[in-house]
Amino acid sequence: MIKEIRRGFLLTLHALLLTVFIGCSTARKSVAPSSSAATLQSGINVGFDVDDTLLFSTPAFEKANKSNYSEYSDEWWAIVNKSDEGNSIVKKVTKKILNEHKQKGDQIFTISARDKIGEEAVKDFLNKTFGIKKENIYFSHEKAELIKKLNISIFYGDSDSDITAAQEAGAKGIRILRSPKSSYKGKYHPGEFGEEIIPNSEE
Ligand SMILES: [Mg+2]
Repeated sequence: MIKEIRRGFLLTLHALLLTVFIGCSTARKSVAPSSSAATLQSGINVGFDVDDTLLFSTPAFEKANKSNYSEYSDEWWAIVNKSDEGNSIVKKVTKKILNEHKQKGDQIFTISARDKIGEEAVKDFLNKTFGIKKENIYFSHEKAELIKKLNISIFYGDSDSDITAAQEAGAKGIRILRSPKSSYKGKYHPGEFGEEIIPNSEE
């Protein structure tokens, strides 16, 4: 009788130890990779143009146009760059794509051909609206060069030049459709470069 109880106890203890052991090794397996630097860096770098890609920003440009400053002057750009707040409208489909990349652990960058004057307001707005790190927000006409330098694998944009810059840099250029209400009409031939087009991305 006592022997049987002892045997039963030993079997239970054995099962318990086995459970604890399996539990520990499983936990180690699931915790280790996500906390390692290698996994954290496994996401790709993804870039977005700003005007007509992340934002329908025609209203911000209209603010500057209503001023007496001449187009593309420093003062004119200063008005554009401080006018996103309360004027520019977030493009829903692009924001959804951006969030999906973030969830995958990808690093988000923006490259805009806007002038740098008053850039802090733009950085604040993009940081607040999309959660993009301020140090990842760039202003440049040399998009291809930057896409390459920043090791960006996918670049989203509305203009032909966004797509060609991406392709020139060896990245994948993906077209975001421009709103028909945009005041900017140039450089717009979706599909012209064999690029992927995001449907219903006008707004
Ligand atoms: Mg654009």
